[in-house]
Parts: sequence; C-alpha cells; structure tokens
Amino acid sequence: MNMNRLLRSCQRLALPEFDKAQLLESIKKLLLVDERWIPSERDTESLGVGPSNQAKIFVINCPVGPYYKTGFAAVSLAATSNYVRAWPGGTGDAKVGGNYAPGIRPQVEVAQKGYAQNLWLFGEEDFLTEVGTMNLFVFWKNAEGELELVTPPLDGTILPGVTRDSILTLAKQWGEFKVSEKKVTMPQLVEALKEKRVVEMFGAGTAAIVSPIKNIFYKGTDWAIPLDPKDPSSQAGALTKRFADTIMGIQYGEIPHEWSVVVKP
Ligand SMILES: *Cc1c(COP(=O)(O)O)cnc(C)c1O
Repeated sequence: MNMNRLLRSCQRLALPEFDKAQLLESIKKLLLVDERWIPSERDTESLGVGPSNQAKIFVINCPVGPYYKTGFAAVSLAATSNYVRAWPGGTGDAKVGGNYAPGIRPQVEVAQKGYAQNLWLFGEEDFLTEVGTMNLFVFWKNAEGELELVTPPLDGTILPGVTRDSILTLAKQWGEFKVSEKKVTMPQLVEALKEKRVVEMFGAGTAAIVSPIKNIFYKGTDWAIPLDPKDPSSQAGALTKRFADTIMGIQYGEIPHEWSVVVKP
C-alpha cells in the first residue's frame, strides 16, 4: 500500500502529516469492523464524481471586528511564479472552496520570509493577477504618460470580485483619470517603479475593502511601492483611502446609493 501520494497531497495543502504505519494499522482495524459490508463479488460498487442533484444555500451572519484596528496597515508582498493560483479554463474565476487550500502553502512559505501575502503572477511574461485572495489595482502614470487606474482583465485567472467592480464603477463615475482593465507584467511594473511612475497599489476584497501595498519582492529584489508622499507616516495612498471611505460610506448608509438595500422591519 503506497501512501506517499496521500502524504504529498497533505504537504501541498499545508495539512499536518501522518504516520504511514499507524494509518495502515487503523485501516486494517476499520476493515475488520466493516467486514460485513465488503461485497463477496467483484465490481459491485461504484464511486464517482457527478453533479449534485440537491444543494443547500446558506446565508451566515456574523459580527466581525474592524479589519484595521489602528488605521491602515500596508502589506509587503512576495511575487509568486513557482505556484499558480488560477489559469484560463480553471475554476480560479469562481468562488470555489477548493481554490483556497492550494494557496495556503505558498502563503506559509512567503510568511516565513516575512511577507504578508503572495502576489500571484501568471505565465512566462509574469502577468500580475491577484494578491492573496484579493483583486489587484495599480494606480500609475502609464507608459504613454496618462494617469491610469489598472486592474487585470477577467480572462479566467481573475475572480470577478464585487469590490473590484465597485472600484471600477466609482472610478469611471469620478472621471478624473483613465480606468483600464488590462494586463500588466511584472517587468512593466518594475520599469514604472524605476521611472517613479507608480502612484500607489492596493488589493481589493470584501473583508478589507482595500489593502494598501508597500513592497513587492520579485526575483531577489524588494521594490518599495509608494504610499502617501504628502504624509510619510501614512499607511495608504490618497486614492486607496478615498475608495475605502466612499465604499464604507455607502455600506453604512451615510452616502445614499443604489448599491445599499435598506431593510424595513
Ligand atoms: C473573494 C475573492 C476576491 C474578492 O472578491 P469580493 O467579491 O470583492 O470580496 C478576489 N479574489 C479572490 C481569489 C477571491 O476569492
């Protein structure tokens, strides 16, 4: 009985490992308990994967503490190209429980090196995709010299987050700078950083709304990402803060908005 594959799966999913001999003894004991269920003929049972014909949809309410207890906390990222979070044709663009376990070991590995999250890259070009389990935004002066807010397009490698959509919609309504869904490679970002064209970067998702980024480790180098040049003590850039304030204002009903649904008792 070869348990190496099971052990390898545990390692990949950052699950505790087990003792092979002990597991074999346990299986033997279990078979003795279940002896009556073992068919006497061959090929009598089938086990397979198929669509569910019944499912329950759960709505779970629970209070949560503030995400940033002491104001924003900008995060340091490590760019990951040896692991892939999502790929075209996969399930990475859907909220599937099975997408999360594979990201834990890469997360543990970067955490050991002192980084808060993975910056997920894709393909030989090192396309930026997402940060941890958040969508990614870059606010920069693009190569054409235009002020632009960019997030990667929904090509199958990106979860189409509600927060991502809200940020794109708000930014387009404000109409103050270009708003693009387009691919950006890590080399393009590094070039923009060298030329001091990057204004700020942040992750976006329901839990934090926005999460400012202060550093990206890529191919042996830590690249500092600007936060707020006007306030060196600040942990978030002006645009990042503005998205946080606006979305929170809408969530708390302070800013009347079609996205807020008022529940009347
Ligand atoms: C949930 C999630 C997001 C953010 O989606 P929201 O709808 O904004 O919360 C982004 N990326 C991944 C991989 C996610 O699982």
